[in-house]
Amino acid sequence: MIVDLLVRDAYIYVDRDWEVDGGWIAIENGRVHSIGKTSQEPPPAARTISARGRLVTPGLINAHHHMYQNLTRSYAPVTNGSLFEWLTGLYPLWAKLDEESLYLSTFVAMTELLMGGCTTSMDHMYVHPKPGLIDAQIKAGTDIGFRFYATRGSMTRSVEDGGLPPASVVQTEEEILADSIRLVERYHDASPGAMTRVALAPCSLFSVTERLMSETARLADRYDLRLHTHLAEDPDEDDYCARVYGCTPTEYFERVGWASKRSWVAHYIYPSHDEIGRLAQAGVCATQCPCSNMLIGGGSADAMALRARGMPVGLGCDGSASTDHASLWLEARTALLLGRYRNGPRSMTARDALEMATRGGAACLGWEDEIGHLRPGACADLVIWKMSDVALAGAHTDPVEAWLRCGPAVAGTTIVNGKVLVEDGEPVMPQLGDVLTRHARHARRIQCLEA
Ligand SMILES: [Zn+2]
Repeated sequence: MIVDLLVRDAYIYVDRDWEVDGGWIAIENGRVHSIGKTSQEPPPAARTISARGRLVTPGLINAHHHMYQNLTRSYAPVTNGSLFEWLTGLYPLWAKLDEESLYLSTFVAMTELLMGGCTTSMDHMYVHPKPGLIDAQIKAGTDIGFRFYATRGSMTRSVEDGGLPPASVVQTEEEILADSIRLVERYHDASPGAMTRVALAPCSLFSVTERLMSETARLADRYDLRLHTHLAEDPDEDDYCARVYGCTPTEYFERVGWASKRSWVAHYIYPSHDEIGRLAQAGVCATQCPCSNMLIGGGSADAMALRARGMPVGLGCDGSASTDHASLWLEARTALLLGRYRNGPRSMTARDALEMATRGGAACLGWEDEIGHLRPGACADLVIWKMSDVALAGAHTDPVEAWLRCGPAVAGTTIVNGKVLVEDGEPVMPQLGDVLTRHARHARRIQCLEA
């Protein structure tokens, strides 16, 4: 038998309990076929890639993002505002999103993620000034061959109802629930090796009604879906929940039926000790977004403490206008720095950060059987990392620590579903130049800049 692809002579981080110091990994039909040491004979392959001196890891998983925001990256008028100031400053611009700009921003975001070693991403798309925006995102994912977990985000509360966004980007409960069902029935693929899945994701506790939260949880039960939202991200959210619901964000989350193993939440910075224990017990996962949290200056979850309490933690880039980049490697490195800065040098290792970016993200997406590791039978989503020989000079004792400490690391080769999408550090999509030209046009239109 001849396998499709063989990556050889690499240091392979297969999973949290399995590393191969000098070996090969064989790929067949979009799956990991087999793994062996250099001393063992690999199967014959249609194509062989040498990864001598390189680290190979599972593709990283991005468990929280807002891809459309790359149309307003580092937008000067709001770069130094608080979270609520930043949101209210940008909503009027995001009200100008349309199908084409969503397609283009998603295409750019996925390409950037691939270049940073990410092979699966969710996207939390909650601004809907026009219909069909998530359809456009799914088309971008399909055109690239990216493994995409779309989420049907939503907002019902505009400024008139005490919320933050303008009326033009919110929808009624009925519109949201009907479109959620439409997207799930059309695109959600629960089968093994799926390239597109759909989850339900009201934006936050302060932007939708209580009824929408409860009805969304019921819909997730009916269709066996995952649930996602922002939770306990900012002290302003605590004040809002106390004033409007008479309880804390976590108590409200429990009240609307979300404290279950279907749910993963972004941030989770301000829960009490008891609340962390309760949600961990219920099976809820969390996503830390270190760069976004630090740029917005709003605090960050103690990821290792959440993990110690039994809550799986993944990593996310968060919005492309709050983080302004889309590199999961950079998030992993920042998670390591933040964890050690907070809790000391023994609190966290590069392997902990890598585990969050792989196994942790897979847990958030409820997909641990197939992604986030390279055990035989897993999806063939992997990265051969490229690092400067200058930056690595002198690093001879631990390739995983060197990968995260020495950096900056970018993907030399990114493989998704057995297909090479980044080669020699460059994306292979032929339409990328055209996409970037059109993306620039839309970004200038949305930011009211002259063409
Ligand atoms: Zn977010």
